[in-house]
Amino acid sequence: MKVSFIHAGLFKLDGGAMFGVVPKRMWNKLNPSDENNMCTWSMRCLLIETGDRKILVDTGMGDKQDAKFRSHFEPHGDYDLISSLTESSLKAEDITDVFLTHLHFDHVGGAISKTEKGELYPTFPNATYHTNELHYKWAMDPNPRERASFLKENFVELKNLGVLNFLNVKHETQAFNWIPGIDVQLYYGHTHAMMGLHINTEEKHLKYVADLMPSAFHVGLPYVMSYDIDPLVSIKEKKTFHDRVLQEKALILFEHDPVNAAATLAVNPKGRTVLGDVQNLEDFLVS
Ligand SMILES: [Zn+2]
Repeated sequence: MKVSFIHAGLFKLDGGAMFGVVPKRMWNKLNPSDENNMCTWSMRCLLIETGDRKILVDTGMGDKQDAKFRSHFEPHGDYDLISSLTESSLKAEDITDVFLTHLHFDHVGGAISKTEKGELYPTFPNATYHTNELHYKWAMDPNPRERASFLKENFVELKNLGVLNFLNVKHETQAFNWIPGIDVQLYYGHTHAMMGLHINTEEKHLKYVADLMPSAFHVGLPYVMSYDIDPLVSIKEKKTFHDRVLQEKALILFEHDPVNAAATLAVNPKGRTVLGDVQNLEDFLVS
């Protein structure tokens, strides 16, 4: 199994929304905001090559949204999804599977592209796209707080074309095996039935848990995003996640951290779980 990052670019989100109840005088030291209180975040996707499968995990926000939408999120940076794949000597046609942790626009937007005439088509023509029915139903009937994050143009066409696979899940919270070496775990604090990955290679235990812990700045239990639908559930899920990462000496891969690609956890003298070794390897690889 080979695991590498695929960068879908940078974007901006409000710092207050990203750090919840944590005061700005604390979070602004971690990720300084601009004059509009916006902080820069990455859309760091994952490529898992195993057997004859090339699995892309999440797709960033894509480029089909209009100028007004883009002005809210200011996508920028040297990479987009396709140029980053090209750098890995891959084409969109090579991707066999797209695993969608959840259907918020900054994770699924790149899954569907748009022609100049406005026709929607899957960006990865030979891929099966994976979500689960609990989350899909949630996204199709969004609550007012998440409505702006669930844009139907990002996922409904996948279902219409028959390329969207629902993983066979019930409302479970224990990890279950998806394919050899990769377990899936459902989380309910950020959104309903978000899917995180436990990836076990011969060398390392890797964790890609999307918005459960979007950056190295979000390790502390109270550092929960305002976007989360149930912050106390997020805290509980994060505590359980901490324990598992420490036990397995695992490496957490951060989807939204603008600087830190990956980190371990440690326990400080006060018994609190804190960041361990931070790895800023932009070309992080497990092979
Ligand atoms: Zn999200």
